[in-house]
Amino acid sequence: MSNEQLDALREQLDEVNVKLLEQINERGRLVREIGDVKSKSGQKRFDPVRERHMLDHIAEHNEGPFYTSTVQHIFKQIFQAGLELQEDDNRKELLVSRKKKPEDTIVDLKGEKIGDGSQRIVAGPCSVESYEQVYEVAKSMKNQGIRLLRGGAFKPRTSPYDFQGLGKEGLEILRRVADELDMVVISEIVSPQDVEMALDYLDVIQVGARNSQNFELLKEVGGVDKPVLMKRGMSSTIDELIKGAEYILAKGNENIILCERGIRTYEKATRNTLDISAVPILKKETHLPVMVDVTHSTGRRDLLEPTARAAFAIGADAVMAEVHPDPAVALSDSAQQMDIAQFESFLDSLRASGLYKY
Ligand code: PEP
Ligand code: MN
Repeated sequence: MSNEQLDALREQLDEVNVKLLEQINERGRLVREIGDVKSKSGQKRFDPVRERHMLDHIAEHNEGPFYTSTVQHIFKQIFQAGLELQEDDNRKELLVSRKKKPEDTIVDLKGEKIGDGSQRIVAGPCSVESYEQVYEVAKSMKNQGIRLLRGGAFKPRTSPYDFQGLGKEGLEILRRVADELDMVVISEIVSPQDVEMALDYLDVIQVGARNSQNFELLKEVGGVDKPVLMKRGMSSTIDELIKGAEYILAKGNENIILCERGIRTYEKATRNTLDISAVPILKKETHLPVMVDVTHSTGRRDLLEPTARAAFAIGADAVMAEVHPDPAVALSDSAQQMDIAQFESFLDSLRASGLYKY
């Protein structure tokens, strides 16, 4: 084929493309008009009987060279685009999205603001074991100017034979210590039935990784007036985390902090793989503050400080780390909790890096 022939055919193709474009847009205008008529008369936008009729009609008129199945596939895409055009743009945006609310959400925990541009540390033992244990950690935190106290009372353990937590007694211990030292209590609740009871003890309800898609729990915490720390599931995509948070906000609770805590990958050098890029993605896609849990993501004490630096450097609003007076005898997560001296040097290094100023 000569170059002229090729050029001529290409010219015709360009013309056909423009005609198709005009026809597709003409179809879009008609679909919009139909959408208006339907919404005025209260009819549903998607009508499967009508769609089947259109596909049959297309099949009847198909003279090739495309197979009918191919043509129908293309038309189904066009139908879908038409339906999307009918939808109210605003309705499609998630409540947690930046598109819906451009300004940052700042969660105020008794004066400790998360998401206002400052950096916060959340610390405390993996599990609440006793009043003395929690008090010792909390006191060292308070001496360092840190008021956000975490501790697990309901522990979602892999094995049913492992320590399951002190339950309500654990919440009572956390509350007592926090009241004595003017601190803020963060603890995980695993069952929707316990949410109301927990309101008397907690300042922040934590939704753990294993419950990240427990939609009944998400709806329950969405309906109460208490901030929620929402962790990413260990096999959740960023989109699934965002939609989980949407469950909470859709029920009216706007005080949500997202937490990247590592995801499961094939890498075995760390307990989970810290997905550090989730932080700027979540900050970009949502208006919610973002925390990084360096303990559960790495599962390694030696990586807590470098990953905390990475978290603050990339824009995290807060970092969570576990601290125990004597990690060697801790009832859970003994390998990665810091003792109090290690916690102090962790903070000193972070301050020296200039990334944490408090
Ligand atoms: C925790 O923070 O106590 C915890 C169990 O973490 P995760 O849900 O992220 O595993
Ligand atoms: Mn732990």
